[in-house]
Amino acid sequence: MLLDTLYINGSFYTQNVRRPRAHSVGVHNGRIISLDDELPAALFRDVVDLAGAAVVPGFNDAHCHLSYVGQALVQADLRPAACGTMDELLATVERACLAAPEGAWVQGGGYDQNHLGNRHPTAEQLDAVSHGRPVWLMHNSRHMGVANTAAFERAGYPGRRDVAAPSGGAAPADADGRAVGLLQETARALVMDAIPGTGVGDVAEMVGAGSDALLELGVTSITEPGLGAPQHIGHSLSDIAGYQAARDAGKLRVRATVMPYLTTLHGLGDAEQDEASGAGHVARMGLDLGMRSGFGDEWLRLGPAKILSDGSLIGRSAFMCCDYQHVADEPEGNRGLLQFPAQELRRRVIGAHRAGWQVATHAIGDAALDVVLDIFAEAQQLYPRPDARHRVEHVNVAGDDQIRRLASLGLIPVPQGRFISELGDGAARALGPERTHLAYRVKSLLDAGIEIPASSDAPVVSGDPLLNIHDLVNRRTSSGADFVPEERISVAQAVRAYTVGSAHAVHEEHYKGSLAPGMLADFVALTEDIYTVPADAIGDVRVAATVVGGRLAHGRLQG
Ligand SMILES: [Zn+2]
Repeated sequence: MLLDTLYINGSFYTQNVRRPRAHSVGVHNGRIISLDDELPAALFRDVVDLAGAAVVPGFNDAHCHLSYVGQALVQADLRPAACGTMDELLATVERACLAAPEGAWVQGGGYDQNHLGNRHPTAEQLDAVSHGRPVWLMHNSRHMGVANTAAFERAGYPGRRDVAAPSGGAAPADADGRAVGLLQETARALVMDAIPGTGVGDVAEMVGAGSDALLELGVTSITEPGLGAPQHIGHSLSDIAGYQAARDAGKLRVRATVMPYLTTLHGLGDAEQDEASGAGHVARMGLDLGMRSGFGDEWLRLGPAKILSDGSLIGRSAFMCCDYQHVADEPEGNRGLLQFPAQELRRRVIGAHRAGWQVATHAIGDAALDVVLDIFAEAQQLYPRPDARHRVEHVNVAGDDQIRRLASLGLIPVPQGRFISELGDGAARALGPERTHLAYRVKSLLDAGIEIPASSDAPVVSGDPLLNIHDLVNRRTSSGADFVPEERISVAQAVRAYTVGSAHAVHEEHYKGSLAPGMLADFVALTEDIYTVPADAIGDVRVAATVVGGRLAHGRLQG
């Protein structure tokens, strides 16, 4: 019997500290079985020559909305890269409306008012280009969006009148009391609830389109940060069925660890007993049959339970210790807001912790971070659980004391390097000169001794790992300005984060993230060696081939 494949003549950066470099990797049944010349080529059915290419373990995006990446491929693309001005945005919307069947909803996503003269599109502007179709455009933060008059009408608000925002949301109105179109945070549901639901088959299609796009970028694993809460995040209560359908159909081509949104969990029936046992106890929160983080296999498994605490930094809704730098159109003293009252966050997070879940809490502002740190500290005090690896997603704004606390509580912050270039100018405007140095910190997290993952939050920004690594190393905004350069990290640190760190952040480092016998045979051959190219050229390096489970999943290799 022959073994599967021997990949020879590569320049492997294994990310295994005991054996950091190798020139060959032997693969059988999807796993690595040998390095270098440990097994002779004659034992393998196929021998593939990597022609000296630099090879790293497959990139693992620790916070990637795979299904939204796919969805963005089938909706109007309004990201600044595609629509640089309001006129271009409106022209794109008009094209999408003209292409849509009569009466069908037209959706777009990715716009950023920071690139549109600090103005969101208005319902009136959209009405002029929408030819009667209801239109919903999602902001690139996904924490807000804008609707046109036809969309408000479908949602039961003729003439955009009497639109009352629920708590935790905002629906600004003009002098006549008509909603201007923007719906923030929980108020998004006022219109989004009227959009026909996304079915299991739709989610499977998105997952397929998204995974193909990511394979081209060298991404072989992702963690999907939030499913099952259509008002907040994800598409429907059956999101995981969509993933499973994609897998059954062979469309799930990157490995996925998925986070159910915390509102999909429910009390596990010990509330009464808790009441009897006194104050401080919190009822366990879980899914039926006791499922929790880790259930599944190396292709599709349950990760942490996800919950949002606050909003977006550039959308100026993240919860801050200090006022946002004031801009026109905004009331004085904006500090953002929490999505849930702190007590409800506490009940849900501690309840999930107690039921054995890893918990991932979105926290962008420093005030939200304080709330979350307190909750995780209390959770461990009440119900100690070693190596829980609870996560704090984004940590966009953090002080030194907060970083020390993250480290001492064993929490994993999940930063996004690509925010620096694509969102950095907007972040600096939101925070002002005095507080910008607290933004998008990465080196300080490493210096605190934390094993950080790397992630993109795609499609909020590009999911391209090489662009992300470029930003982690160079830290320049799209306008060319240095952005807190003291937080630059090395290529080696960035690659480790993208591989070992991201696997560790979901308890998968024992079979993923480094290249050694027994590990998954997921790796990426690059067109140039990112460890040796000049720092400002990292973003020009491309993926030549992506191998998943020992098989070529994208690109070309010489057999
Ligand atoms: Zn996200």
